[in-house]
This record gives sequence, structure tokens and C-alpha cells, in this order.
Amino acid sequence: MTNPTDTPFLPFARPDLGDAEIDAVARAMRSGWVTTGPETKAFEQEFVDYLGGGVQAIAVNSATAGLHLALEAIGVGPGDEVIAPTLTFTATVEVARYLGADAVLVDVDPVTLNIDPAAIEAAITPRTKVILPVHYGGLACDMTAIFDIAQRHGIQVVEDAAHALPTTHAGQLVGRLPSAVTVFSFYANKTMTTGEGGMVVTADEQLAARMRVMRLHGISRDAFDRFSSRAPTWYYEIVAPGYKYNMTDMAGAMGRVQLARLPEFLQRRRHLAARYLAELADLPLVLPSDAPAGDTHAWHLFVLRLSDVARVTRDEVIERLSRAGIGTSVHYVPLHRQPYWCDRYGLTPEQFPRADAAYQRMFSIPLFTAMSDEEQGRVIAALREILR
Ligand SMILES: *Cc1c(COP(=O)(O)O)cnc(C)c1O
Repeated sequence: MTNPTDTPFLPFARPDLGDAEIDAVARAMRSGWVTTGPETKAFEQEFVDYLGGGVQAIAVNSATAGLHLALEAIGVGPGDEVIAPTLTFTATVEVARYLGADAVLVDVDPVTLNIDPAAIEAAITPRTKVILPVHYGGLACDMTAIFDIAQRHGIQVVEDAAHALPTTHAGQLVGRLPSAVTVFSFYANKTMTTGEGGMVVTADEQLAARMRVMRLHGISRDAFDRFSSRAPTWYYEIVAPGYKYNMTDMAGAMGRVQLARLPEFLQRRRHLAARYLAELADLPLVLPSDAPAGDTHAWHLFVLRLSDVARVTRDEVIERLSRAGIGTSVHYVPLHRQPYWCDRYGLTPEQFPRADAAYQRMFSIPLFTAMSDEEQGRVIAALREILR
């Protein structure tokens, strides 16, 4: 086994930031304009162009902020229900609670680990306002089935696309699908980063207008742009108690460089994923599902599950990988096992048999563009030794 004393620790993830990002951030700093400004505006436009146009993009300081803006703009409030998978990060649904609405957690598909459309259908009540699917690991949910359910029941869809840049469903990029709002994350370990940040995408003009206003204190520019070209520059109107969710121009400048590198990032992630899929295939593991032919998996995560014949536990694997100098993570401790969600809604593991079974056996191994083939080789060799 590799001796951790002479091998540097391989972290679970590391951002891929080079001189171009550093120069871009420095350019923003030297410009004298460091809050939301020209860099963020250009980043929003370039994001729209990346998606192929026909949508609006609103830069925010986190995907969590973006999800909050989306639900607020849709009008989610006390008494409303938002359906989401239990196998996700708490941010997906905490935003429903910010607005006094309830999260209704449902089970996942046992193969893809994405939200199960049949479980969504079974959870719908007259109070259901939004379905909030998460493209787990970067693999698109069954959006055809989800849009069909949403349409039949008159419910909105908001996509948590924190893992899904770039992901396609039936040949269409996530961000262009017919949901009300799609929210991307630029958190440090995501497929591209701005340190902290997110992008809200919608084709709906009214939702976009509301989210732009609420992103920055409920300040309305339209009020004076539209009615009074003579209004002095110091004048503004507050039309709602908004939030402080805008992106800085340092983050926007970093995002522009990362976005331009996204095709290169995707290629690298695909290469790493294909090698894992090939070289771990004979081990007692359930490998992650690839995207259907012709579709794109963003490969944000590479989640393994121990199969029935494995002779070690998940915790032992994580411990032994750590001793071999390899970082791992678990995505996720399902929300039905988190004290807040469990207590609030009286949830038990028996209500989520598939997510719960997956959780007991799952661990995520390093897959990031800045890792070398040699580093990936160490992960493969360590797993082969632990699981043989
Ligand atoms: C990272 C993540 C978020 C939150 O993103 P932030 O930009 O950190 O707010 C939301 N949902 C999922 C599934 C995530 O992985």
C-alpha cells in the first residue's frame, strides 16, 4: 500500500484556477469597481450565449441564494409544498423553509439515484407548488416524466442544477429545458467556480424581473428607466424587502474565464470518468450510471456503492483510502437522516428505502480536472487493493 509519508495527500476536490483567472480577478480589482458591475454583466451575457440564447441569466452570490430567489419569485409561501429528493444537500430545500413553505422529501431511483418520478406523483397534494429535481452528480433527472407530471397538475419546476454544468437531457442543455427556473452553483468544488457564486436562468421575463429586483434589496431600476429619463442619478425606488444576493466583479471576472474553459473541463472529466468506469468494473462495486447515448453527463461526482459481495464496509473503505492519502466524501447523508428534517417532518429511513440503502454503501472518490492521470492511478490502485 502507498506510504502516505512520501506521497502528498490527494484531496477529494481542488479548484482548477490558473494565471488567466488570477489576471482576470486582478483586472477587476485594479478597475476600481469591485461590486456587481461590467464583469458580472459580461459573465451573465456569456452564460446566456453558452446556453444558446433565449433565456436570461442572473448572477448571484450562491446557488442557495438563487434557489431562494426562484421560489420567492414563483410566489412560494406558507402552506405551500415543495417536492425534492431526500438524497441532496440541505440547500435544495432549506430555501422553502425560508419562505415558510414545507419541503416534501421523496425517494430516488435505485439505479441513477435521481428523484423518482413515481415518488413525486405519489407525494402531490393540493398544496404542492413546486417540484425541485436535483441532477445528482451531473446526470439529468427523467425530466420528460417530471414535466409531464408538472403539466398535468399545474405545478412549476425549479431545477437544482448545482451539479449539472454542462448536462443534457434528450439533447437539450440543462438551463434550456422548459422549467420555470434553473439554478447553477459555482461553489469551490463544482464543475466551474467563482469561489462562491451561482447563476439563475429563466426564459420567463416576469420571473427574471422579480429575481433581479429581489437580488439587490428590492431596488427597482425600471421605475425610473421607464418613466423618467429626467430622474436624477441618485434616485431609486424600493419596491419590496429584497435580499443581498448580488455577485462581486472579482467573482464575475473569475467566472468568465472558467466558463470559457468549460469545454476543456468537460473533456477532462469525461476522460477521468471513463477510466474509472473501465478500471473499476471488475470490483465488487456498483458504478455510477452514464448518460444515455447522445446525452452529456457533467461528471461533477463519481459516486461508488459497495455491492452485496464486498467484504468491507463503506466506513472501512473510506478509512483505508484516507490512510493511503486519498480524500473521499459521501453525497449525501440523506436529509431524512438529518436531525432538523427528520424531527420537523417525523421522517424514518423506512420511508426512503432506496436512498437509505444507497447511503449505507456509498462514497465519492476524487474526480476533478486538476488531478493528474498518476493521481487517478493511485485511487484505482488503492481501491483494487482494498476491495480485491
Ligand atoms: C452545492 C450545492 C448547492 C448549493 O450551492 P451553493 O452555491 O454553495 O449555494 C445546492 N444544491 C446542491 C445539490 C449542491 O450540490
